[in-house]
Amino acid sequence: MSRIIHQLAFNENHWPMLPGVREALAGSLADVNLTGDALAGRLERRLAEDLGTTAGRVVAGAGSGALLQQFLAAHCAPGSTVVHTQPSFDLYPLLIRNAGAEPVEVPAGPGDRQDPAALAGAVTGRTRVVLVCNPNNPTGEVVGVAWLESLLAALPPEVLLLVDEAYREFADPAAIGDPTTVADPRLVVVRTFSKSHGLLGLRAGYLVGAAEVVGPVRRTAPFHRVPTVAQAAALAALEAGDRMRAQCREVAAERDRVRAGLLELGFDVPPSGGNYLWVRLGPHNQRFIDHLAAHGVLVREVAGGVRVSTGLPEANDAVLSAARSFAARPLTPEVAR
Ligand code: PMP
Repeated sequence: MSRIIHQLAFNENHWPMLPGVREALAGSLADVNLTGDALAGRLERRLAEDLGTTAGRVVAGAGSGALLQQFLAAHCAPGSTVVHTQPSFDLYPLLIRNAGAEPVEVPAGPGDRQDPAALAGAVTGRTRVVLVCNPNNPTGEVVGVAWLESLLAALPPEVLLLVDEAYREFADPAAIGDPTTVADPRLVVVRTFSKSHGLLGLRAGYLVGAAEVVGPVRRTAPFHRVPTVAQAAALAALEAGDRMRAQCREVAAERDRVRAGLLELGFDVPPSGGNYLWVRLGPHNQRFIDHLAAHGVLVREVAGGVRVSTGLPEANDAVLSAARSFAARPLTPEVAR
């Protein structure tokens, strides 16, 4: 087994740190002994300003995973259910159970797409939240605002719709739209600095929604909401919004380049709005994973497909070159299906 050179299993952002972030981090180090902004109020106000909304509608937290967990804890009593599609983010069932609720997994519709009618159909009197991942991890599917509105229209008034936009900046902005502009108080969006802004290790994200729906989440973080160094980095990253968007476009272009190459080789790869592709090889998933590993690329199987994160061009070239030698092997016709 060769040494792994390209880590493409965790959907990380491999682009350079955004301008100003390193300096902000260095500057914040001198104050790590201080309380600083324990409630991350400045970050929330800045986010609200950027979103054209009020700070009461924004809650900052230590990444979107923590906020998903906090949101579910705030809104789900023991015995309640949370409905989501399968395949979707593989940690949802864990986060839901940690909140004392029960996951209800709804099989995806044709083309592995999230199906609003099926999601609404799985809602019962015990359901508190429907969870939609957009772009969906691992399938890459992007749903638009009209899709979310059609789901809202099919949900009972007391059920909340939580949209996880961990990868939104890698999607076509026209296709994903901006659900934070939807007036319905049941719709809540969670976002993160982990992927688009490359701050995964620092832990910063936010929820945006109606004050009465996101407000209870504040009480689920018993103490400091976001580390002060992470706040400093997040605020600096927001200043570099243009560069962030440009980098995400570069990631998306690389993702599409790899997809085009894989399609040409006969692989089955749905279009993706995230910083990853989901390659479906049926019974050959593990062979493909092993083949990539032998060529220095680490990826993993998620929900019956091989999820390949988008790396820097050199890593993506390594994926394509390994895929070429894999497809050229005797099993080619089977593999291509
Ligand atoms: N949502 C989705 C769909 C994810 O894939 C991830 C991380 N892989 C998260 C949320 C959590 O990310 P973070 O806590 O770093 O914001």
